[in-house]
Amino acid sequence: MALGLMPTRPALLVRIRDVDGCSGWGEVWANFPPRANLHKAHIIEDVVAPHLRGARFVEPREIGALLCDQLSIYFLHVGQIEVFSHILAGIDTALWDLALRRAGRSFAEFMGLSEASAQSYATSINAEDLERLIPHHASLGQTHFKLKIGFEEHGNREIVKRAAGLCPNGSHIMVDSNQSWTLETARSQLGNLEDLSPYFAEEPLPANAPLADWEELASSTDIPLAGGENIYGIDSFCAMANVGLRILQPDVAKWGGVTGALDLARAMPQGACLWPHFMGTAVGQVAALSITAVLAKTSSCEVDVNENTLRTDLCGDIITVRNGRVDLPSGPGLVVPPVPDLLATFMDGKDSGPMAEASRSGLS
Ligand SMILES: [Mg+2]
Repeated sequence: MALGLMPTRPALLVRIRDVDGCSGWGEVWANFPPRANLHKAHIIEDVVAPHLRGARFVEPREIGALLCDQLSIYFLHVGQIEVFSHILAGIDTALWDLALRRAGRSFAEFMGLSEASAQSYATSINAEDLERLIPHHASLGQTHFKLKIGFEEHGNREIVKRAAGLCPNGSHIMVDSNQSWTLETARSQLGNLEDLSPYFAEEPLPANAPLADWEELASSTDIPLAGGENIYGIDSFCAMANVGLRILQPDVAKWGGVTGALDLARAMPQGACLWPHFMGTAVGQVAALSITAVLAKTSSCEVDVNENTLRTDLCGDIITVRNGRVDLPSGPGLVVPPVPDLLATFMDGKDSGPMAEASRSGLS
């Protein structure tokens, strides 16, 4: 990963069961640090779950509002407001899944989608793998390819130039520097890339850099700026869009869940578009793809190119890219529940103690 070594692939799934035994699944962002899933699982079990027991809702947003009412000050006090956002996001997704499964409807049916599939793009392509991965993903019909850059030793321009040379006509390179540049560095690095026409530059500055810096960078380059995996709240997204952020990238497992992303799509200023960020298991990936399916031609959903059995196996073979698109589940619910045997394998595996512990501790 771009922020350092990732020795394990932790993940945290939330299952919420109603009084009749119908379940919904959601994902809470926990890619790192290595035991982030354990930490958040314990918080859910110890602090959040007691507030869910016996709660009633018609729309998932009602439960989000209830939990915010009851727990926002608590999480402010313990300095974990963003962790609370991650947990709320996973719960929102699980409630969408539960409500749809209970109603016997798929997300696509419920939303009245004319096409039950979502455009996808290939992401996290490492410099060492350009020659293998770009042609492969182009052969799957994907037309946008995102590269990790930002590390001097790789030589950013050289990487982007090589990638551009591998792209079929009409397809695009995007770059992601993971908040690693200062304003001065970002200006010069993007200036160096302009003639290669990246489709967007993701997180060229830290998400919490002053709005004036974002505005200055946006006005200094022709490359559209993107970001969102570290932005929390509709007001913050809109403020960023108003100073020039063109591609908003909320992560359904980090902020807002499905409800937040759909609300943001309605609230964002003209000229901005919403391309969901995602990096995790098939549960959150399907939720992210569902947002893109609603937004149709104006959106594309991030799908990692790297090996990750939590994405490719855990819920069965459901994240399959054809003609650049991924089909949404056709059965009742938002997501496809994990395959029980595989879930048990991951929970009991050498590499996934935290999931096992979350399960043993009765997280549901
Ligand atoms: Mg990124």
